[in-house]
Amino acid sequence: MDVPLARSWVAAIAAAIADQADYLTQLDSAIGDADHGVNMHRGFTAVVAALEGYEAASVGDVLVRTGTTLVSKVGGASGPLYGTAFRAIGKELTGSTVDGPEFAAALKAGLEGLKRLGAAVPGDKTIVDAYAPALAAFEGALGEGAPFGAAAAAAAQAAEDGAHATTAMQARKGRASYLGPRSVGHQDPGATSTWLVFRALAAVTAGA
Ligand code: ADP
Ligand code: MG
Repeated sequence: MDVPLARSWVAAIAAAIADQADYLTQLDSAIGDADHGVNMHRGFTAVVAALEGYEAASVGDVLVRTGTTLVSKVGGASGPLYGTAFRAIGKELTGSTVDGPEFAAALKAGLEGLKRLGAAVPGDKTIVDAYAPALAAFEGALGEGAPFGAAAAAAAQAAEDGAHATTAMQARKGRASYLGPRSVGHQDPGATSTWLVFRALAAVTAGA
């Protein structure tokens, strides 16, 4: 991945979020406060504006600026969580181009940052339930010799499966946890937006 590709990734996330904002909000209306799509859309609209005309020297510059903007522009729980993750990913990527293993290490740092802030573990019905399997699939595919794009495709599939698997879970973190057992039977909004993030990565790195 190089700087233009990092920009393309963020632009693809923004486009996917814009396209799916109503769906994300609909998911959040079942087990939250019906604002996840609105929050994410506001955040990534601000990110697109913040990256316009911004001179990035490294892949990480693009992603740190993305994270910083999300933290400052998104009011819900998801803003600080995604913002922290993107900032942690970006801080690892100091080169103007980064390879698969470097990107895997950065994704790992992002997940660690997210878990440190939100204290969620797998099974809590959160972003972590899509992110953790996506990271594992990305690392696993690279370990089997897959190129970047194929590893990203594996990560996107694992994130999708992870998001779907949240339907059966009872929420133990965030607003949805207030519902207790009534949170079961609904797909988690944040895990679903994480799937969009990894699907965008796969789309822009296909063939890379
Ligand atoms: P809010 O809950 O403040 O309204 P959003 O609706 O934007 O914020 O985001 C809700 C999503 O945030 C949830 O679906 C869940 O995936 C994620 N989330 C909430 N708390 C945590 C946490 N502690 N760790 C990880 N993800 C979390
Ligand atoms: Mg909400």
